[in-house]
Amino acid sequence: MKNVFPSSHPLVLHKLALLRNKNTDPKKFRELIREIGALMAYEATADLLTASITVETPLAQAQGVQLLENIGLVPILRAGLGMVEGVWDLMTSAEVWHIGLYRDEQTLKPVQYYNKLPVEPTVSVCLILDPMLATGGSAVATVDLLKKWGVKKIKFVGIIGAPEGIALMQENHPEVPIHLAAIDERLNEHGYILPGLGDAGDRQFGTG
Ligand code: URA
Repeated sequence: MKNVFPSSHPLVLHKLALLRNKNTDPKKFRELIREIGALMAYEATADLLTASITVETPLAQAQGVQLLENIGLVPILRAGLGMVEGVWDLMTSAEVWHIGLYRDEQTLKPVQYYNKLPVEPTVSVCLILDPMLATGGSAVATVDLLKKWGVKKIKFVGIIGAPEGIALMQENHPEVPIHLAAIDERLNEHGYILPGLGDAGDRQFGTG
């Protein structure tokens, strides 16, 4: 699949198995979401633009690079929240723009309830953070918003994706790369990913 990047990294896959386990408690679950989020963002940012610089070490000059891009982290509330801190630790000057979407239980379509994006874009690249790419409705709606905001480079960074959600993203936004720890089998009749990990929001916040 073009532009879809399932991870093959042993650390990611080991942590993913722990995350899926129904006996993993919320504290450990949050820790794993944070760690896998950071590892996925590391994979997703391999093509960020850099400029060459010279730095002084205590002994001599050395050639190095510095990041050229202003990064926006865009967690989709509420499950995406848990991925923010791990990713932010890696790119401390990133801005965080929250997007609130909930899934209508009847239609399974996303409904926006929070968006404070300013009029003009303040970042050049956005990483959308949401652990679960299920129906794809929220991801597509978020990319729609970010494109309207004027962001040219957008990436989706998740943990588990369903084929249905990946297909919807590729139909609507084929140029947006999708980075995932795993691609699962399918959605069930309630829009949950199988085998998945259950409700990523409930399991993080202890509300299940
Ligand atoms: N959201 C979740 O938290 N889990 C799923 O399986 C699908 C959507």
